[in-house]
Amino acid sequence: MNFPIYLDHHATTPLDQRVLDEMMPYFTMKFGNASSTDHSFGNDAAIAVKSAREKISKSINAKHDEIIFTSGATESNNLALIGTMQKYVDRGNHLITCVTEHQAILDVAKYLETIGKNVTYLHVNKYGEINLKELLDAITDKTVMISIMTANNEIGTIVDVEKIGKIAHEKNVIFHTDAAQAVGHIPMDVQKMNIDLMSFSAHKMYGPKGIGALYVRGIKPRVKPDPILRGGRQERNIRSGTLNVPGIVGFGKAIEIAIGEMDAENIRFKKWSEKIIKSFQEIGGKLNGHPTSRLVHNINVFFPKIDGKAIINDINNEISISAGSACTTESVEASHVLLALGMMEEDAHLAIRIGIGRFNTKEEIDYLIECISNSIKNLLKIQTD
Ligand SMILES: *Cc1c(COP(=O)(O)O)cnc(C)c1O
Repeated sequence: MNFPIYLDHHATTPLDQRVLDEMMPYFTMKFGNASSTDHSFGNDAAIAVKSAREKISKSINAKHDEIIFTSGATESNNLALIGTMQKYVDRGNHLITCVTEHQAILDVAKYLETIGKNVTYLHVNKYGEINLKELLDAITDKTVMISIMTANNEIGTIVDVEKIGKIAHEKNVIFHTDAAQAVGHIPMDVQKMNIDLMSFSAHKMYGPKGIGALYVRGIKPRVKPDPILRGGRQERNIRSGTLNVPGIVGFGKAIEIAIGEMDAENIRFKKWSEKIIKSFQEIGGKLNGHPTSRLVHNINVFFPKIDGKAIINDINNEISISAGSACTTESVEASHVLLALGMMEEDAHLAIRIGIGRFNTKEEIDYLIECISNSIKNLLKIQTD
């Protein structure tokens, strides 16, 4: 085994070697600008972008011109929310989202409130699911859009986006989902799931950092957010800026591999996570989030009266896992997601998150279980000494 063992795949994933190999020529020999197609340099780049765009759009059952490349899910979320609320201002000023969203939705929603928009933050049950009747009740004739994430980055809960999208469409409301944790991990179909806008990111599926996409529905209904970046009018004038060709090529390869290996990977991860959860429960661990409707590579757990940070410090040289969400580890506040589930603040502080990934091995999983069990024993012993 190589140490430290990486088990934080919700924060980011390592680049797959096959993805890097595909990208390499586009850093050097094939450096052209995909918009400068008066010569072969630009043409080669444009062809590579087209091919990647096809792979990405097919993977989510979209058309190639419905994919807008961005720098990642954060930018896609900003574009989706700000661009749509601005574009359809004549329809109203109301946005509906949820308290357990990623900061890249919540902070945008807060910003929109400062410029006069109305935001409803739906609550969740103890598993992290919204109540569809509450959603229906929240919709008014001023509601422009609903934004609900597909899979939660902390607790892994997968929500029924198809039903949410159906409600949105029945009410003529635009439906956006942050699917950064879902695309490449569970099957996503924008048609079947009634999705109008969808954010996703390459580095959450063994692709490079700094490249992502926003799916933008072309028909029934046609949606077109206002740009937040203006300039060279790339990406149908929705997102200006010279295309990140190596990133896009890598993104295409990463999603192709992810779709091809998804079923086998999920069977493997399910077996491992069930084993981990069972062994943690035997030593008093409690699973956060949904017992079944969850990403199979996610384990969010707490051990009563044992500080998650203490466990992490104990095993840090050998295993890399996270406390709560990666984005809030700097602050001392308990995770907003765990609190939203109704957990007591003192318990929320105890949580640890494990994210299994493509290159983990059975030996590493067994080692994780052993390390955490030993750490729990040590920490309990210190407490009682
Ligand atoms: C990682 C993540 C983001 C941010 O994506 P970037 O590509 O890093 O900007 C947004 N939402 C969710 C749910 C995520 O997991």
